[in-house]
Amino acid sequence: MIKVIEKQTGDSFVLKKGQKLKVIDPHGEQVSDMVLFNLEDTREKISSGKTLDFEETILITKGNFLWSNRSHKMMEILEDTNGRNDFLLAPCSPETFQIMYNNPDYHPSCFENLYTNLSAYDITPDEVPTAFNIFMNVQFATDGKLSVDPPLSKAGDYVLFQAEMDLIVALTACSAEDSNNGSFKPINYEIID
Ligand SMILES: [Zn+2]
Repeated sequence: MIKVIEKQTGDSFVLKKGQKLKVIDPHGEQVSDMVLFNLEDTREKISSGKTLDFEETILITKGNFLWSNRSHKMMEILEDTNGRNDFLLAPCSPETFQIMYNNPDYHPSCFENLYTNLSAYDITPDEVPTAFNIFMNVQFATDGKLSVDPPLSKAGDYVLFQAEMDLIVALTACSAEDSNNGSFKPINYEIID
């Protein structure tokens, strides 16, 4: 059954070892931030640093694993029809919009949508790690300069993950203008046994 994460919101759920998670961009050009925690001990969580180290690349896609801070495999990426994801940047937060968008007003954010959906599992805001940013198109120059470009994903593109341990998963439909080419769309997902 396909579930819908409405624009600028999030969700959380348990994914058991061996189950698959399909994250779908139904309209195109929409980023989804994903964080993972070990269901049995939430001090173990997804790690960008360990993943980029062990996979020996900053472009994580089909064939790569997502690793934890305790150096365990959390997920394998089985399919990736778009092929561009980011694992460098932290989830957009209220401060992102103050500092980078010069917007002092309230703005929805992935960080808020992650920690509010993780509170049911007693996970606090300070425990939210750098997210795996599905469909996010961060480009980097040889001098190290980063830029957030419009996603390359087209309507129907998806990434299929398989859990390597029992997991708590939190997912968003990202709320940052620059990450989503200026408009906010839903994200769909499906858990497959
Ligand atoms: Zn975001």
